[in-house]
Amino acid sequence: MNNPSHVNHSTIYRIAVPSPLRRLFDYLPPINGSTNDSTNDKDLAPGTRVIIPFGRRKVVGIVVSCTNNSNFPRSKLKPIDTVLDSTPLLPPHLFELYVWAARYYQHPIGDALINSLPSLLRKGDDIPVQEEKYWQLTDLGKGLPETALKRAPKQQQILNLLQQQSHACYELSVNDLKRAEASSSALKQLEEKGLITSTTKALEGKPLEEQENLLAEQPLTLLSEQQQALDSIELHDFNPYLLYGETGSGKTEVYLQAIEKILRYGKQALVLIPEISLTPQTLKRFEQRFNCPIALLHSGLTDRERAIAWNAARTGQAPIVLGTRSAIFTPLKKPGLLIVDEEHDSSFKQQEGFRYSARDLAVIRAQKESIPLVLGSATPSLESLYNCEQNRYTKLTLTSRPGNAAQPRWQPVDIRKANLSSGYSRELIDTITETLVAGDQVLVFLNRRGFAPTLSCHECGWVSDCHRCEARLTVHRSPNRLLCHHCEHMEPIPTACPFCHSAQLQCIGQGTERSEEILEALFPDTPIIRVDRDTTRRKQAMKEMMEKVNSGDPCILIGTQLLAKGHHFPNVTLVAILDADGGLFSPDFRAPEKMGQLITQVAGRAGRGDKPGTVIIQSHHCDHPLISNLTHDNYNAFCQELFRERELAQLPPYRYMAVIRAEAVNGEAAIEFLKHCRQSAERLLPATNNATSTNISYLGPLPAPMERRSGRFRHQLSIICSERKALQRMLATLCPELEQSQLAKRVRWSVDIDPQDMT
Ligand code: ADP
Ligand code: ZN
Ligand code: ZN
Repeated sequence: MNNPSHVNHSTIYRIAVPSPLRRLFDYLPPINGSTNDSTNDKDLAPGTRVIIPFGRRKVVGIVVSCTNNSNFPRSKLKPIDTVLDSTPLLPPHLFELYVWAARYYQHPIGDALINSLPSLLRKGDDIPVQEEKYWQLTDLGKGLPETALKRAPKQQQILNLLQQQSHACYELSVNDLKRAEASSSALKQLEEKGLITSTTKALEGKPLEEQENLLAEQPLTLLSEQQQALDSIELHDFNPYLLYGETGSGKTEVYLQAIEKILRYGKQALVLIPEISLTPQTLKRFEQRFNCPIALLHSGLTDRERAIAWNAARTGQAPIVLGTRSAIFTPLKKPGLLIVDEEHDSSFKQQEGFRYSARDLAVIRAQKESIPLVLGSATPSLESLYNCEQNRYTKLTLTSRPGNAAQPRWQPVDIRKANLSSGYSRELIDTITETLVAGDQVLVFLNRRGFAPTLSCHECGWVSDCHRCEARLTVHRSPNRLLCHHCEHMEPIPTACPFCHSAQLQCIGQGTERSEEILEALFPDTPIIRVDRDTTRRKQAMKEMMEKVNSGDPCILIGTQLLAKGHHFPNVTLVAILDADGGLFSPDFRAPEKMGQLITQVAGRAGRGDKPGTVIIQSHHCDHPLISNLTHDNYNAFCQELFRERELAQLPPYRYMAVIRAEAVNGEAAIEFLKHCRQSAERLLPATNNATSTNISYLGPLPAPMERRSGRFRHQLSIICSERKALQRMLATLCPELEQSQLAKRVRWSVDIDPQDMT
């Protein structure tokens, strides 16, 4: 081709394509004239979106790098169709982060990269402009006398308001009108009369430098521990901290004041919070403190809202970015501070597809962007505590609660021989009664929704198994049905045993529905508020229930882990943990850690106001070291016990771990594939047990703790290694090999690095 332009003919672009294949694809520069701007006189920067022919389709890809050679002859390569961005959407640091994450988590790079973008941009759309709707007087409206609408006072109010805006083209934004309490039906009627008309305008964000009046309220005067923590946080360079503060000790206030400082430097703060605690309460605290825009990123947004919030972060229009897991991938114009609240929370780890940990990526990101990172928790993960011990993080501790709020008193109740009235010991019932009589509130924690976990036949012993999973169907009462909590399979509750036809069917065990029923019978005059996934489906439901609790009258809250996080219940003085034993004997080595965190978090809801709290913890194993550490000492002692166990068993955080999982309708196929995995892995990195060299061990293939789920058999191979790098190197060779293997075609398989959930 005789092309006079400046296209460099030796350039080849490596492009990430949304595909499950673990590789990039090579393309030639666009042919002159096919770009929609003038970028073809220089190399396309990494992070630029392009449209490319891929198979028979056209897809959006992202330029990863630029090179001179390809494994394919040039004549086989196709040119890029269209260049979508004149400058890359992603700043180089962040782009490096995505590439790092794809490599570390052994995830196909194309899929990882493309998924880091809001879906609108993934589809190749332009960044949507944030618009604001305005109402404006028509000529007719302008000419109307002030009192023309006397009979319709609501309409007249709006008319007059707009008539006063002669300096601003007789218009007001919808938000301004809302603030002036204009009724939307009156607006509609005015529009129908032809008196007003609506327009939209691009919303102009103020640049960061112009934020005067940054604060909307005065910050609290810090307690000395809070002040010390705040002063210790170096607001420049990569400096990781663990802010370890009991529930209610004022961590959030420390975050807010650190954010204030960073905003005053003209930089931005990114705050990650668990899915469950992104409550209106959390957002309100940020909004009450700061006058500046806050970009909110969570799973409930529309594609458009998400792209707008993402872009507000990227352009610096929003100095504060508040989001859940995937917000870790949001570009910031002037990164200044990264905060991960409740860093122990398992929702930071994505459990399917791209199995990244947002908490761990935050460390890498802060490093790449050279900014401080604060991980905060009342119950830090063993990983983070270990990193403090290794002097990788600086530990900042808050031990006291502001005001009069004292730490709760623990009261273990041995229920081994107790005559349990459907899950409630005599001792517990008495204490609940006393608490209510004193005019206080009670929180009962039971992490199991539904009525009862099993239905069973008294005559023949039949139990309600799910036919697709190795699990029982849970009995639900409202509405009436049997439901599998693992595959969502549903069936009606039988009236007679399907096996022996006896009518003697029994509900075994307690769920929140049943516990609620028991409480209603025991305390008929007290409002019982049940909080679980079933009662909070409706959008406003949670808010309404919290308002009822915050009114302060005596009541009993019963619920699952939805109650454990983010809420303040100043009038709750008794927290009851109905069954503390769930995590003790689980095949998942992380289960006890999670149980301890959950119990400590729930307990932290007690006694936040002026009154001291009590925590009753019912257990069959009160003398188990984990339970006794938790109840007699504290979370710290509990963790020390776990550290001992993990060290002995050579498990994380002392070792690095990866799990390869395979599932198939035919279990043999999964086992065969994993055997092949193990052989290939052992060839690359033979198992050793030699203290001087890299220590690696393979465990499996073994059936997963829940062997069958949704009709598929699940098996896993665990790989445990003393060196992160060696494990990484081996997996980097192994995974592309597995992808090519014939055995892989018969199963669904995945690699999970630093797995959090072993079930
Ligand atoms: P955490 O994030 O550790 O759970 P919060 O920051 O939410 O704790 O603080 C718990 C309660 O104490 C909140 O109601 C907060 O307003 C209050 N609080 C925090 N710091 C102070 C302070 N220095 N002085 C007075 N009250 C404070
Ligand atoms: Zn039966
Ligand atoms: Zn099932």
